[in-house]
Amino acid sequence: MRYSDYCLQLFGHRMQKLTINAGHGCPNRDGTLGTDGCTFCNNDAFNPSYCQPSKSITQQIDEGIRFHSRHRGLGHTGYLAYLQAYSNTYAPLELLRERYEEALAHPKVEGLVIATRPDCVDSGKLDYVASLAREHYVMVEYGIESCYDRTLQRIHRGHDYACTVHAIDETARRGIPCGGHLIMGLPGESREEIVAEASILSQLPLTTLKLHQLQILKGSQMEQDYIRDPSSVPPAFSLNEYVSLVCDFLERLRPDIVVERYAASVPPYHQATPGRSWHHPDGTPVRGSELVDMVESELASRNTYQGIYYNPSQI
Ligand code: SF4
Repeated sequence: MRYSDYCLQLFGHRMQKLTINAGHGCPNRDGTLGTDGCTFCNNDAFNPSYCQPSKSITQQIDEGIRFHSRHRGLGHTGYLAYLQAYSNTYAPLELLRERYEEALAHPKVEGLVIATRPDCVDSGKLDYVASLAREHYVMVEYGIESCYDRTLQRIHRGHDYACTVHAIDETARRGIPCGGHLIMGLPGESREEIVAEASILSQLPLTTLKLHQLQILKGSQMEQDYIRDPSSVPPAFSLNEYVSLVCDFLERLRPDIVVERYAASVPPYHQATPGRSWHHPDGTPVRGSELVDMVESELASRNTYQGIYYNPSQI
């Protein structure tokens, strides 16, 4: 199911996520676990210009609505407040309560999506989010990035896969919808290992999943690794290779997991190396919706679909 159809089913109309930077930190940057962050990370690359923690959450929502209204089509659009930047459960509960409830109190906001790390939740925070989720649509979206501990160590993630499994289990057990974010093509992972992650993730009680191709962002540690040794990062996928990889992955993914995105779209000025986002022959970028069409058309030409090779007993 497309994410847009999932939203239509839940809310009865189109939904737009409004990215918000609530000023939450990250233990992998503030010195608790490290100061340099995950090697792929430069949060600025994902942050729209109106998202500044110096502005209140209400102001960011208002500006986000104005920003998206310019690009919006016809028909009613609802809004989800999306706490995206950094780790949005990484603060004392009282502060989280103020920020989440300010977002949900906005008259045009119909739900909240909280992006965070799996090691930044505990039972007190999850119990509170579960209480919110009984009244509102609230999803917790975890950065999974990889199912392999050796990759998580290599990218300086600061937690292992068991931590991810525990956080997602504890979240879903409380009735909170869970999202996940996976990077396709991290250093050291073979194509077979990436595809196998579909079966591994299918064991988790995930509602949604975002897939992103690896991008080398300016200002990230991975950019420095690349400058020192270009062979330290895997080669970029061509568009055809990536579509084929995503299809192989989807064929093994549990059919009810809603795949929200198939690829990242980071502005070119944030990218340190070319070739990790795709363009048409006339130079225009391949849009996310076009990639979805390509994946669907490839699956149709294979006469397959999401989950055709999903096997609940196989990890
Ligand atoms: S990706 Fe997330 S967890 Fe990693 S350094 Fe960046 S903000 Fe922190």
